[in-house]
Formats: sequence, C-alpha cells, structure tokens
Amino acid sequence: MLFSKSSEPREYESRRLDALAEPPEVGHELFVGLSALRDTVSSRHHSRDFAFAHARYLRSRVLALGLLFALLSPLWIVVDALVLPSELLWYSLAGRVGLLLGLVVVLLLAYFSCERIRRIRFSAGMLLALPAGFYLFVLVMLPAEQVQNLVGYGFIPFLLVAALSVFPFTLLESLGAGLAMLGLLVYSQVVDGSWLTGRGVESFWLLSSLLIVSMAANHFQLSLLLRLYRQATHDALTGLFNRGALELHLEKVQAWQRDTEGQDSLGSVPCSLLMVDLDHFKRINDSYGHSVGDSVLCQFAELLVRQTRRHDCIARYGGEEFVIILVGSGQARAMEVAERIRYAVEKTEFTGHDDQLIPLTASIGVTRLQQDELPQEALKRADEALYRAKREGRNQVVAAQDHMEA
Ligand code: GH3
Ligand code: MG
Ligand code: MG
Repeated sequence: MLFSKSSEPREYESRRLDALAEPPEVGHELFVGLSALRDTVSSRHHSRDFAFAHARYLRSRVLALGLLFALLSPLWIVVDALVLPSELLWYSLAGRVGLLLGLVVVLLLAYFSCERIRRIRFSAGMLLALPAGFYLFVLVMLPAEQVQNLVGYGFIPFLLVAALSVFPFTLLESLGAGLAMLGLLVYSQVVDGSWLTGRGVESFWLLSSLLIVSMAANHFQLSLLLRLYRQATHDALTGLFNRGALELHLEKVQAWQRDTEGQDSLGSVPCSLLMVDLDHFKRINDSYGHSVGDSVLCQFAELLVRQTRRHDCIARYGGEEFVIILVGSGQARAMEVAERIRYAVEKTEFTGHDDQLIPLTASIGVTRLQQDELPQEALKRADEALYRAKREGRNQVVAAQDHMEA
C-alpha cells in the first residue's frame, strides 16, 4: 500500500521540536486506501487541513439554517395564540424568546469563528439542541391535555432529523443527534399518551427511517467533500501532494517557524527543502514503456514516504521531480537525510510489469527554508543545487551555496 510506513525510518526528531508547538500537519493519513466509510464515520482520520475546510463548510450551513430558524420560529406565535388558552400562551412565548436569543448567540458565534473548528462544531450542535430544548420546555411546562392541542410542535424532532442531512456531519455525530431526537419523540409520546399506540409506533418508525436517510446523505456529502479536497490537493498518480498544496504548506511551515521563534533560547525551528529529480527517467519510458515509468514513479513515491516522518511533506513538483519539506531539520541534517534517500534509491530494486529490475538513481538539491523569504526563493535555490548535481554527474546530493551551515 502506497502510504503504509512499513519500516519506520530512524527517528530524526530533534529535542527542540518535541518541546515546541505541534508543527503543521500534512495529512498523509487522509484517504489512504481504506474505504470512504472510515472517513465518514468519524473525523479521527481527517487531516488538520481538511478539518479546516470541513469547518468552513459547516459554518456556512449553520449560518443559513440558523437564520431560517430565527425567522420562522416567531411566526408560529400566531398559531399558538389560536390553540392555547391565554394563561398558557406565556410558556410558549417565553420558550420562543429563549429560542430566539439562543439562535442569535449561535449565529454570532458561527459568524465570528471563521477558523475555529471546535466553536463551529459547537454552534452546529447548539443549532439543533435549541429547538429540541424549546420543545422539551413546552412539554414539561404545559399540562398533558394542552399538549394534545398543540399544533406544529410534533414535527420538531422530524424537522431536526431532516436538518441533519443539510450538514456534512460524520455518521457518529448524526447518530448521536438522531438518538437524542428519538428520545425526545418518545418523551413527547409518553406525555401525550400515544406511546406504544399504533400512531406512536408509526411516528417512531418514521423518525428512525428519516434518521437513516439523513445519515446516508451525510455519508455521501462528506465523502464527496473528502474526494474533492483530495483531488484539489493531491497528485492522481502517486497520491502525494501536488504543487499547489506544497506551496500552501511551505507558507504554513514558515508561519509556524515564526510562531515558535523565541519559545526557547535556540531561535526558530530550522526547516529544509529537498528537490529530488530522477536521473535519465526518459530512458525508462523509452526502454520499458510509459506505464512502467508510471509504476516506477509510484514505487519511488512509496520509498520517499518510508524515508520521511509524519510531519514532513512530500509533493510531486513536476513529472519526475519531487520536493520534500523536512520539518525541524537544518541544512546539515537535511544533507544526511538526502544522502540516505539517494542511497536508498540506488539500492532499491524497482520493478517493471514482468518483475524485470529497473536501475534508478536520483539527484537531490538541498537548501534551508528561511522563515521570511518567499517560498519560491527557497524552491529556486533547491532547483539550482539540483541542477549542479545533474551537471556534476547525477546520483548525488548538492547543498545550495547561499545558506550553508557550519
Ligand atoms: P535528467 O537526468 O536530466 O533529469 O534526465 P531525464 O530523462 O530524467 O529528464 P527529462 O526532463 O529529459 O525527461 C523527463 C521525463 O519524465 C520525460 C517524461 O516523459 C517523463 N515523465 C514526466 N512525467 C511522467 C509521468 O507521469 N509518467 C511517466 N511515465 N513519465 C513521465
Ligand atoms: Mg530527470
Ligand atoms: Mg526533471
């Protein structure tokens, strides 16, 4: 399997990295060959990058639905006024005022929580909990005979379970919310006396079916989001990051370097860039065919994943050109890693379709990533070093000249 790290490489984590804030996650684990179900059941395997994209999507739904609830809820006062005696109308009015205030808080919370994943999830949960709480309040406060007269309340659990399908919730989140709504329905049936009657069983069955349909909608919505996210950020052949995702990640690593500066006496965390190009790759295509070339690229991508750590980012930069960001490694350490990779490529037995052995070597340019430069400048330095490695005979590692470390 492409991304399984079957043999963990020697641990290069520096002491200082351990002591500092978590570096930006690159999300190797997203969609790694298992079924989409694993990724829609819970968000445990989502990369941090995807979690942000997911939260932005969730937030837009919270704002739209929250606004709708806030506008529709007060309108129902007219119906309440027609069916409830005036001395009981106050309970419903008080409940609706509480609901409206709660919805306004939820809307404000979501509106001002652009990049706050937990707050957005909380506001989505509250958006569903508030109408359910309002219904519960009315059920508790009104006498049972008046509960039977209520119009337009019984559908609240149904509306909320249907609303689950609007959000890209995980299946576990939806199941939790759905079970709570089923509990609310049961309580309302106990209060109005329809529990275990034909009508009660029918409602229970209907709400359960609706929950299953909503969860199916959640699954398809979330797996589509994951697929689109993956297509936008990953290379289709090797599964590594693509060039666009690499450039974004470089900026994130630099921002992280700036954040960690001054957290200990040693300054910001060093990070390095490796630009790797396969030697005479055209010959492989010419000798064995393009599909063997593709297969060798995939085998090479696996090798890179095995040779790096979780926080390092590997991207396919061009045809047979790859870039690796080594988080927490200065130039000297990066040279060691690059040499290890070069050696591993030379020694690895790459195979074609008929298991014929295909010799392969790689040239690598290495540079240190400065926290205050444009990512393109670091890429250019690494490319120049790579060019020198090619000129000097290939199958070697060359450090960029500008930022040599002692
Ligand atoms: P050098 O040592 O100078 O890098 O030589 P090279 O042959 O590797 O470099 P060159 O730039 O001349 O050729 C790169 C080749 O990589 C040409 C192209 O057909 C091949 N290539 C690029 N992308 C793919 C791909 O996705 N699949 C396959 N099979 N080949 C690819
Ligand atoms: Mg090449
Ligand atoms: Mg090339």
